[in-house]
Amino acid sequence: MTARKKIIAANWKMNLAHQDVKSYADVLRVEVGVVNEIEIVLIPPFTAIPALAEALGNNSFARLGAQNMHWEKSGAFTGEISAAMLQALSVNYVVLGHSERRAQFGETDEIVNRKIKAALSSGLQPIFCVGETLTERDGKRVEEVLKRQIQEGLKEVSPRHFPDLVVAYEPLWAIGTGRTATPEQAQRTHAFIRSVVALVSDHSTAEQVRIQYGGSVKPENAEELLRQPDIDGALVGGASLDARSFAQIIRRAVAV
Ligand code: PEP
Repeated sequence: MTARKKIIAANWKMNLAHQDVKSYADVLRVEVGVVNEIEIVLIPPFTAIPALAEALGNNSFARLGAQNMHWEKSGAFTGEISAAMLQALSVNYVVLGHSERRAQFGETDEIVNRKIKAALSSGLQPIFCVGETLTERDGKRVEEVLKRQIQEGLKEVSPRHFPDLVVAYEPLWAIGTGRTATPEQAQRTHAFIRSVVALVSDHSTAEQVRIQYGGSVKPENAEELLRQPDIDGALVGGASLDARSFAQIIRRAVAV
Protein backbone atom coordinates (compact mmCIF):
# COMPACT_ATOMS: atom_id res chain seq x y z
CA MET A 1 0.00 0.00 0.00
CA THR A 2 1.23 3.52 -0.80
CA ALA A 3 2.29 5.47 2.28
CA ARG A 4 0.06 8.50 2.52
CA LYS A 5 1.41 11.50 4.41
CA LYS A 6 -1.17 12.64 6.95
CA ILE A 7 -2.60 16.09 6.37
CA ILE A 8 -3.95 18.14 9.28
CA ALA A 9 -5.77 21.30 8.21
CA ALA A 10 -7.20 24.21 10.18
CA ASN A 11 -10.38 25.66 8.68
CA TRP A 12 -10.85 28.95 10.48
CA LYS A 13 -14.09 29.74 8.60
CA MET A 14 -15.08 33.40 9.19
CA ASN A 15 -12.90 33.75 12.28
CA LEU A 16 -9.51 35.28 13.04
CA ALA A 17 -8.49 38.29 10.98
CA HIS A 18 -5.17 39.55 9.63
CA GLN A 19 -4.18 41.11 12.96
CA ASP A 20 -4.52 37.72 14.70
CA VAL A 21 -2.33 35.62 12.46
CA LYS A 22 1.16 36.59 13.63
CA SER A 23 0.58 35.50 17.22
CA TYR A 24 -1.20 32.34 16.02
CA ALA A 25 1.73 31.41 13.76
CA ASP A 26 4.27 32.20 16.49
CA VAL A 27 2.49 30.01 19.05
CA LEU A 28 2.13 27.16 16.56
CA ARG A 29 5.80 27.35 15.57
CA VAL A 30 6.90 27.15 19.19
CA GLU A 31 4.42 24.43 20.15
CA VAL A 32 4.98 22.21 17.11
CA GLY A 33 8.48 22.95 15.80
CA VAL A 34 9.52 21.48 12.47
CA VAL A 35 7.39 18.50 11.54
CA ASN A 36 8.29 16.41 8.52
CA GLU A 37 6.11 13.40 9.19
CA ILE A 38 2.83 15.13 8.42
CA GLU A 39 1.58 18.08 6.42
CA ILE A 40 0.03 21.07 8.20
CA VAL A 41 -2.32 23.41 6.36
CA LEU A 42 -3.74 26.69 7.66
CA ILE A 43 -6.91 27.94 5.98
CA PRO A 44 -7.75 31.48 7.06
CA PRO A 45 -10.32 33.89 5.60
CA PHE A 46 -9.11 35.39 2.29
CA THR A 47 -8.18 38.74 3.84
CA ALA A 48 -5.77 37.11 6.30
CA ILE A 49 -3.87 35.09 3.68
CA PRO A 50 -1.10 37.64 2.92
CA ALA A 51 -0.43 38.36 6.59
CA LEU A 52 -0.33 34.65 7.36
CA ALA A 53 2.03 33.96 4.44
CA GLU A 54 4.33 36.63 5.81
CA ALA A 55 4.07 35.35 9.38
CA LEU A 56 4.92 31.82 8.25
CA GLY A 57 7.89 33.00 6.16
CA ASN A 58 9.93 30.98 3.68
CA ASN A 59 10.53 27.27 4.28
CA SER A 60 7.48 27.31 6.42
CA PHE A 61 6.36 24.48 8.68
CA ALA A 62 2.80 24.95 7.39
CA ARG A 63 1.19 25.42 4.02
CA LEU A 64 -1.60 27.80 3.09
CA GLY A 65 -5.14 27.05 2.05
CA ALA A 66 -8.20 29.07 1.02
CA GLN A 67 -11.82 28.38 1.89
CA ASN A 68 -13.34 28.75 -1.57
CA MET A 69 -12.76 30.02 -5.11
CA HIS A 70 -14.62 30.63 -8.37
CA TRP A 71 -14.17 28.31 -11.34
CA GLU A 72 -13.65 31.07 -13.91
CA LYS A 73 -10.26 32.67 -14.44
CA SER A 74 -11.54 36.28 -14.30
CA GLY A 75 -14.54 38.37 -15.22
CA ALA A 76 -17.74 39.92 -13.92
CA PHE A 77 -18.17 37.82 -10.77
CA THR A 78 -18.53 40.36 -8.00
CA GLY A 79 -17.28 39.11 -4.67
CA GLU A 80 -15.45 36.12 -6.10
CA ILE A 81 -11.78 35.05 -6.12
CA SER A 82 -9.98 33.04 -8.82
CA ALA A 83 -7.47 30.20 -8.54
CA ALA A 84 -4.73 32.42 -10.02
CA MET A 85 -5.37 35.08 -7.37
CA LEU A 86 -4.89 32.47 -4.68
CA GLN A 87 -1.76 31.10 -6.26
CA ALA A 88 -0.28 34.58 -6.40
CA LEU A 89 -0.54 34.57 -2.60
CA SER A 90 1.32 31.22 -2.30
CA VAL A 91 -1.82 29.26 -1.56
CA ASN A 92 -1.51 25.50 -2.17
CA TYR A 93 -4.87 24.12 -1.07
CA VAL A 94 -8.47 25.18 -1.54
CA VAL A 95 -11.50 23.82 0.34
CA LEU A 96 -14.29 23.03 -2.12
CA GLY A 97 -17.81 21.77 -1.49
CA HIS A 98 -17.81 22.44 2.24
CA SER A 99 -21.25 21.62 3.62
CA GLU A 100 -21.71 25.22 4.74
CA ARG A 101 -21.20 26.36 1.15
CA ARG A 102 -23.52 23.67 -0.15
CA ALA A 103 -26.27 24.40 2.41
CA GLN A 104 -26.03 28.18 2.78
CA PHE A 105 -24.73 29.32 -0.60
CA GLY A 106 -26.49 26.91 -2.92
CA GLU A 107 -23.42 25.04 -4.17
CA THR A 108 -24.50 21.99 -6.11
CA ASP A 109 -22.43 18.95 -7.07
CA GLU A 110 -22.10 20.49 -10.53
CA ILE A 111 -20.69 23.76 -9.18
CA VAL A 112 -18.30 21.85 -6.92
CA ASN A 113 -17.19 19.82 -9.95
CA ARG A 114 -16.45 22.97 -11.96
CA LYS A 115 -14.40 24.36 -9.08
CA ILE A 116 -12.45 21.12 -8.60
CA LYS A 117 -11.51 20.99 -12.28
CA ALA A 118 -10.50 24.67 -12.30
CA ALA A 119 -8.42 24.29 -9.13
CA LEU A 120 -6.59 21.20 -10.41
CA SER A 121 -5.85 22.64 -13.80
CA SER A 122 -4.41 25.75 -12.12
CA GLY A 123 -2.17 23.67 -9.86
CA LEU A 124 -4.15 24.13 -6.62
CA GLN A 125 -4.93 21.06 -4.56
CA PRO A 126 -8.61 20.77 -3.69
CA ILE A 127 -9.79 19.63 -0.29
CA PHE A 128 -13.03 18.19 -1.61
CA CYS A 129 -15.65 17.95 1.16
CA VAL A 130 -18.37 15.32 1.18
CA GLY A 131 -20.74 14.19 3.90
CA GLU A 132 -24.28 13.24 4.78
CA THR A 133 -26.92 14.96 6.91
CA LEU A 134 -28.43 13.34 9.97
CA THR A 135 -31.67 12.70 8.08
CA GLU A 136 -29.74 10.95 5.31
CA ARG A 137 -27.87 8.87 7.90
CA ASP A 138 -31.08 7.95 9.71
CA GLY A 139 -32.62 7.06 6.34
CA LYS A 140 -29.68 4.70 5.66
CA ARG A 141 -28.68 6.75 2.64
CA VAL A 142 -25.07 7.48 3.59
CA GLU A 143 -23.49 5.41 0.81
CA GLU A 144 -25.91 6.64 -1.83
CA VAL A 145 -25.27 10.30 -0.91
CA LEU A 146 -21.49 9.94 -0.75
CA LYS A 147 -21.37 8.00 -4.00
CA ARG A 148 -23.34 10.71 -5.76
CA GLN A 149 -21.24 13.55 -4.31
CA ILE A 150 -18.00 11.83 -5.31
CA GLN A 151 -19.10 10.69 -8.78
CA GLU A 152 -20.59 14.08 -9.65
CA GLY A 153 -17.84 16.10 -7.95
CA LEU A 154 -15.08 14.22 -9.77
CA LYS A 155 -16.79 13.93 -13.15
CA GLU A 156 -14.29 14.43 -16.00
CA VAL A 157 -11.39 14.97 -13.63
CA SER A 158 -8.27 13.72 -15.37
CA PRO A 159 -6.77 10.61 -13.70
CA ARG A 160 -3.35 12.28 -13.63
CA HIS A 161 -4.78 14.87 -11.22
CA PHE A 162 -6.15 12.40 -8.68
CA PRO A 163 -2.99 12.18 -6.55
CA ASP A 164 -3.30 15.95 -5.90
CA LEU A 165 -6.77 15.53 -4.54
CA VAL A 166 -7.65 15.45 -0.85
CA VAL A 167 -11.14 14.27 0.09
CA ALA A 168 -12.58 15.40 3.42
CA TYR A 169 -15.35 13.25 4.86
CA GLU A 170 -17.40 15.54 7.07
CA PRO A 171 -20.69 14.10 8.33
CA LEU A 172 -22.87 17.18 8.80
CA TRP A 173 -24.22 15.97 12.12
CA ALA A 174 -20.68 16.06 13.49
CA ILE A 175 -19.69 19.54 12.33
CA GLY A 176 -19.54 22.02 15.18
CA THR A 177 -21.85 19.83 17.28
CA GLY A 178 -19.37 18.13 19.60
CA ARG A 179 -20.61 14.78 18.20
CA THR A 180 -17.97 12.75 16.39
CA ALA A 181 -18.29 9.61 14.33
CA THR A 182 -16.73 6.73 16.25
CA PRO A 183 -13.34 5.71 14.84
CA GLU A 184 -14.91 2.46 13.57
CA GLN A 185 -17.83 4.30 11.94
CA ALA A 186 -15.44 6.78 10.32
CA GLN A 187 -13.08 4.02 9.15
CA ARG A 188 -15.92 2.11 7.49
CA THR A 189 -17.07 5.23 5.67
CA HIS A 190 -13.53 6.20 4.63
CA ALA A 191 -13.00 2.73 3.19
CA PHE A 192 -16.26 3.12 1.29
CA ILE A 193 -15.18 6.54 -0.01
CA ARG A 194 -11.89 5.05 -1.19
CA SER A 195 -13.79 2.32 -3.02
CA VAL A 196 -15.87 4.97 -4.83
CA VAL A 197 -12.73 6.93 -5.71
CA ALA A 198 -11.41 3.65 -7.17
CA LEU A 199 -14.58 3.35 -9.24
CA VAL A 200 -14.01 6.74 -10.84
CA SER A 201 -10.26 6.17 -11.20
CA ASP A 202 -8.64 2.84 -10.38
CA HIS A 203 -7.53 0.94 -7.32
CA SER A 204 -3.92 2.06 -7.19
CA THR A 205 -4.84 5.71 -7.80
CA ALA A 206 -7.43 5.55 -5.02
CA GLU A 207 -4.75 4.22 -2.68
CA GLN A 208 -2.83 7.48 -3.18
CA VAL A 209 -5.74 9.83 -2.43
CA ARG A 210 -5.72 11.19 1.09
CA ILE A 211 -9.04 11.15 2.91
CA GLN A 212 -9.39 13.45 5.91
CA TYR A 213 -12.02 13.16 8.59
CA GLY A 214 -13.77 16.34 9.77
CA GLY A 215 -16.41 16.93 12.41
CA SER A 216 -15.63 18.00 15.99
CA VAL A 217 -12.06 16.74 15.86
CA LYS A 218 -10.25 17.83 19.02
CA PRO A 219 -7.11 16.84 20.93
CA GLU A 220 -9.05 14.24 22.92
CA ASN A 221 -10.37 12.26 19.93
CA ALA A 222 -7.78 12.95 17.22
CA GLU A 223 -5.41 10.09 17.93
CA GLU A 224 -7.99 7.31 17.87
CA LEU A 225 -9.45 8.62 14.61
CA LEU A 226 -6.05 9.04 12.99
CA ARG A 227 -5.03 5.50 13.88
CA GLN A 228 -7.59 4.13 11.43
CA PRO A 229 -5.98 2.83 8.23
CA ASP A 230 -8.10 4.89 5.83
CA ILE A 231 -8.12 8.13 7.84
CA ASP A 232 -5.27 10.18 6.42
CA GLY A 233 -5.74 13.39 8.33
CA ALA A 234 -8.22 15.80 9.80
CA LEU A 235 -10.02 18.96 8.73
CA VAL A 236 -10.47 20.86 11.96
CA GLY A 237 -12.87 23.75 12.48
CA GLY A 238 -13.59 24.95 16.03
CA ALA A 239 -10.58 23.33 17.70
CA SER A 240 -8.20 24.97 15.22
CA LEU A 241 -9.05 28.51 16.30
CA ASP A 242 -6.81 28.23 19.30
CA ALA A 243 -3.21 27.63 18.21
CA ARG A 244 -2.42 25.56 21.31
CA SER A 245 -5.32 23.21 20.80
CA PHE A 246 -4.50 22.86 17.09
CA ALA A 247 -0.88 22.16 18.06
CA GLN A 248 -2.05 19.37 20.36
CA ILE A 249 -3.95 17.78 17.47
CA ILE A 250 -0.81 18.01 15.33
CA ARG A 251 1.25 16.36 18.06
CA ARG A 252 -1.31 13.55 18.31
CA ALA A 253 -1.10 13.07 14.53
CA VAL A 254 2.68 12.88 14.64
CA ALA A 255 2.48 10.29 17.41
CA VAL A 256 0.23 7.95 15.40
C1 PEP B 1 -15.56 21.95 9.47
O1 PEP B 1 -16.54 22.65 9.33
O2 PEP B 1 -14.79 21.77 8.52
C2 PEP B 1 -15.36 21.30 10.77
C3 PEP B 1 -14.84 20.11 10.75
O3 PEP B 1 -15.77 21.97 11.88
P1 PEP B 1 -15.68 21.46 13.41
O4 PEP B 1 -14.30 20.90 13.62
O5 PEP B 1 -15.92 22.70 14.23
O6 PEP B 1 -16.73 20.43 13.60
